[in-house]
Amino acid sequence: MANLNELAQIGATPEGGVTRLAFSEADVAGRLWFEQKVKAAGLRYEMDGAGNQFGILPAFSPTKKLLLCGSHLDTVPNGGKYDGALGTLSALEVVQTIKEANLDLPYDLGVVNFTDEEGSVMSLFGSHAVAGQLTADHFTNLRSGTVDLVAGMARLGITQESALAATIDPDTLVGFVEIHIEQGVRLENAGISIGIVTSIVGIRSAWLTFGGEAAHAGAKPMADRRDAMWGATAFVQRAKALVESQFHPGVCNFGQLFVEPGAFNIVPAKVKLALEYRHGTEPQMDDMRTALFDLAQTIATEYGLTLQVEEVMGCISAPSDEKVVQVIEDSAEKLGLSSQRLISFAGHDTQSMAAITPSAMIFVPSVNGVSHHYAEYTKDADCVNGANVMLHTLLSDCWH
Ligand SMILES: [Zn+2]
Repeated sequence: MANLNELAQIGATPEGGVTRLAFSEADVAGRLWFEQKVKAAGLRYEMDGAGNQFGILPAFSPTKKLLLCGSHLDTVPNGGKYDGALGTLSALEVVQTIKEANLDLPYDLGVVNFTDEEGSVMSLFGSHAVAGQLTADHFTNLRSGTVDLVAGMARLGITQESALAATIDPDTLVGFVEIHIEQGVRLENAGISIGIVTSIVGIRSAWLTFGGEAAHAGAKPMADRRDAMWGATAFVQRAKALVESQFHPGVCNFGQLFVEPGAFNIVPAKVKLALEYRHGTEPQMDDMRTALFDLAQTIATEYGLTLQVEEVMGCISAPSDEKVVQVIEDSAEKLGLSSQRLISFAGHDTQSMAAITPSAMIFVPSVNGVSHHYAEYTKDADCVNGANVMLHTLLSDCWH
């Protein structure tokens, strides 16, 4: 907890939050602080070509196997002091504890701080690099422009080439575990201490265009209209009901709406709707996709409209490893802590790692679910519970 509070001073904001955007001067200061903490803990410090920082506790007998744990130290603007930092510093505390207990494990233990999880420049930059999911294409069409990234990478002493070469051979990895605040209220409302993430949601999106016929908004009888807005709004309401009744806890959202011709006195000829939907596994996402698009077609037919569907890029869901989920569950039980399995509806570095090694996440409660906000708060006791569950998880013989 002392480390967490100390780090929160770097990039501290007047409201009590933290601004440590990846690649910024504050991030560099935070990273230097972390490097010193890693060395003070007696771990071997390393940084890879993507700027990911590692603290390694070698096994007594040399091995090429690595069990990794950690998270990220970058924040959103005026974010909280727990998002990311809790996971990285809990991992450091746990590995330091194992070192001080002089335990001989059959694998190296590694603590990691992944670069730019939050996406100041590129979301999941560091973990994507490690998992071999970073490509040259990612360096073009950046939200913040390439200039910022090049300057930022120089500040960290890395380049595009070094980042692309930062992959870890999956055969050398035993697994990955990340602690994170829940960023929601499910644990708090249920009075549960530990959340075990079974999957990080997939996200898919599509433009749905309902096509009707423009007409005089007064002279055209209601019964003769082919109003694209009627179809689009019916779809919004019935898709909501469909997802709630058949795909709980999956979610859908309609974030944008464009109307043509777009006037008080013209019946809408065209309504273009932005649909996004999320669920825990790809089969569930496939079922949701079929059900949503079938519904849109049914509604278009009912209202005498045409329907165009244009799917746009999303990201695939990342299921946790069942063995790791079970070990976390058993560790919580051994410690007398209540636990609950849940889906993460936000993205995390674990989704990169889950593609290359057995992975899972430990969630601890967020007071009022506040996150990406300076008032983000998790009780000390909950932070400590999470770290203890991770300690027992790393010591499990499931990794042998
Ligand atoms: Zn985070």
